[in-house]
Amino acid sequence: MKAAIFKEARKLEVTEIPVPKPTEDEILIKVDYCGICGSDLHTYTKGLYVNPGQIMGHEFAGVVKEIGANVSGLTIDQKVVIRPLIECGSCQHCLAGMPHLCANGLVDGIGYGRPGAFAEYIIVPKPLVNKVVFPLPDNVSTKEAALIEPLAVAVHGVKLANVDLADKVVVFGAGTIGLFVAQVLKTIGNCHVTQIDISNKRLELAKELGVDVVINAQEENVMERLVEITGAGNYGAGASVDVVFECAGVPITVNQSLEAVRHGGKIISLALFEENVSLDPTILVQKEISWKGSFAYNTEFKTAIDLLSSGKVNAEALISHLYPIDEVTAAFEKQLKANESVKVCFEF
Ligand SMILES: [Zn+2]
Ligand SMILES: [Zn+2]
Repeated sequence: MKAAIFKEARKLEVTEIPVPKPTEDEILIKVDYCGICGSDLHTYTKGLYVNPGQIMGHEFAGVVKEIGANVSGLTIDQKVVIRPLIECGSCQHCLAGMPHLCANGLVDGIGYGRPGAFAEYIIVPKPLVNKVVFPLPDNVSTKEAALIEPLAVAVHGVKLANVDLADKVVVFGAGTIGLFVAQVLKTIGNCHVTQIDISNKRLELAKELGVDVVINAQEENVMERLVEITGAGNYGAGASVDVVFECAGVPITVNQSLEAVRHGGKIISLALFEENVSLDPTILVQKEISWKGSFAYNTEFKTAIDLLSSGKVNAEALISHLYPIDEVTAAFEKQLKANESVKVCFEF
């Protein structure tokens, strides 16, 4: 089978390797679609997160092709999506119901420690149904299901925010995570959502998908616009946003988040950064801001599948490009071009 192997920054190589054989406790999946994640881009540009030799790819869906003798509840040719974190089940985080914070989750995770889905076939260990392997409803294709993983990331972030029914919310960044956060927010009450980015292509899509206001940070003054939408903050400083989602991952949006949020407001950080950020923590104290990180997902795969199946969230609209795995470099370069692409996926 073909697999794309990470060699070093800016270098992935497509190689022919044997189809792996599942043990009696594993299953073999034929990958249909696998997305390029924002974290994969950090690996591609800077060599972060994985070691050379790794087959990356953790946002995927496909079809069950072989089932180990000890595995139950699955059938051959069943459409499934996989939750790629492989937790230990016995550390303090796993026992406390926060398995996504288990150190084993990534170390042994699909696309990190163990081979990922930038390949035609993949082994899934511990394939518990509705915990690791999720059968797809008839009306959810494996193409849109490849985006269930980032949708679950967005659902987790929105859950952590405890957004109120009429909150004024700002989402910095209109990449896959930002677009999903905005769509999930629009399923909540009368939430008003403003999305900010520098890519008109992505902002146009945000608007089509139901966001109330979009701001291009290169063409407009972000804080002036946010004051127009939410009112000025206390003492006439900054804006009055109830909840900010930071899904952009650049230094300026962190400082804009602190400036935009109201006294007593919340910031949820979902983005990963390639550089350190300079900020004045005094503003956290004076505004009594609740600033929370949001990592991956806990039990949100099921919610994400339901959101797609019910039509409340549109994943297919985010897929801007499909590439064969042979064109792995072209695919990564396209995903880096925010003005041209939204979500780039490999099609097998
Ligand atoms: Zn991801
Ligand atoms: Zn654990």
